[in-house]
Amino acid sequence: MAESLKQERQTKKTEGSLAPDKQGKERAASDLNTEVGGRSVLIFVSCPHCGSSRVISFDYEGEWFTCGQCQGTYQVVS
Ligand SMILES: [Zn+2]
Repeated sequence: MAESLKQERQTKKTEGSLAPDKQGKERAASDLNTEVGGRSVLIFVSCPHCGSSRVISFDYEGEWFTCGQCQGTYQVVS
């Protein structure tokens, strides 16, 4: 079941320069019932800037995300 792929991770605000090609996809957790494509593992996180609930498709360490609510950038804490 997809349920087993759900994970929760800590996030932090990004520091320094960000590689444009490493920007990942995220969405509001409330939008989760929209189609989820690909084989990425979905991770439930909270935006470190505004605290909103986000869902990211996390593909590799170093990936970063832009919060759709506050436009703040964040990374997953490894
Ligand atoms: Zn935010």
